[in-house]
Amino acid sequence: MCKHLNVITLQNICEKHTTAVLHYSQIEIFQRHEFHTSEPRRIPPIVAIIIRPLVQIGAFVFGRAFKKWWKKKTPEEQKVYINWLKSRKNAFFGFLGFFLFALFLYYVTHLQIDPITKRPRFIIFTKEQQELFAKLTLQIHLEENKGHIVPENHPVYMRLTRITKRLLNANMDLQSVKDKQWSLTVVDGALKNAYVLPGGHIFVFLGALHLVENDDQLAIILAHEMAHELLNHSMEQVSRGVILDMLLALPIVLLWAIFPDAVAAIFQILGASVINIFHHLPYSRALESEADDVGLILAAKACFDVREAVVFWGIMRMLTELKIEKDIPPILSTHPDHGDREKHLNELMPNAIALRNNVGCSYLSPRDPRNTFYMRTKKDHELYFKLRGITST
Ligand SMILES: [Zn+2]
Repeated sequence: MCKHLNVITLQNICEKHTTAVLHYSQIEIFQRHEFHTSEPRRIPPIVAIIIRPLVQIGAFVFGRAFKKWWKKKTPEEQKVYINWLKSRKNAFFGFLGFFLFALFLYYVTHLQIDPITKRPRFIIFTKEQQELFAKLTLQIHLEENKGHIVPENHPVYMRLTRITKRLLNANMDLQSVKDKQWSLTVVDGALKNAYVLPGGHIFVFLGALHLVENDDQLAIILAHEMAHELLNHSMEQVSRGVILDMLLALPIVLLWAIFPDAVAAIFQILGASVINIFHHLPYSRALESEADDVGLILAAKACFDVREAVVFWGIMRMLTELKIEKDIPPILSTHPDHGDREKHLNELMPNAIALRNNVGCSYLSPRDPRNTFYMRTKKDHELYFKLRGITST
């Protein structure tokens, strides 16, 4: 069944989808029985999400407990332990090497080549586990927005459904588009936000619509969210987080075992910030850029005016420059800088327009929306945002 309780589902798409799912599961059963392929060991996403903080807390508790225990020992006893450790140095490093090698093996055996980008991605969850996780997260988000979900006959819901269907129908050549049970939920909230949950459940807040000028820009936003799901970004992020936590467990134990509490706490905060700035945030920005690239392709195939992608990010940049929207330094942001997205999408535009023409879309209007946007001065933009009710100043 495609229709979820309390979820406004894209019925026609789901009907088409049901056959695709049945077909796919038959193939899967056939493969399992025919070839007896051994599945890599996988842990459920919920367990992984619970385990992640527990690994860090466990490492902290263990390291600190070791330090306390060590302090209680007399210098003679400590010497005995140190000598014991020295005599087993090889066994200790052997175990460490084995642990790192086992993690490396786990990593390489859980790499999958993404069919769209051809990029290897690390996923530790089975399809069934991902589906269960998708159901649970959907329930949580529906509960969170209970009483604010707009009905199916709401004009914005109908508008978004029309655009989403057009995007999906134009991209049915992608297996991952067919395989998802896409649904759309519109939330009556001022938040200027749209996101996709694992499983293809798109949430759009009414506030986000204040920022867009037309259906083409809305299509760019929806296509970007769909791209995140098609590329399985959420599961990739959780999977990567799990292996990183495993790698960090030992340094955290050593940190709390060796240093006094206050020093260990400072080092841990500093370490977390360094990892955030040099790993988490650049990685998150890379996923955002990837979703921009793939989203642009989805929108081009659905014959939307892809040039509006540049205009949309130009508007976002302008809102930041005029201090209407928050300006977070790009290095501290999970998303790329608005201006960088605008520039990057503009660079991709010749290919996107060519793709649009290749799939048989009608020619774009000779009135390029980018020219209209770039002809406005800062003052014009200010006045324009005021007229559109985005700002009252
Ligand atoms: Zn995104």
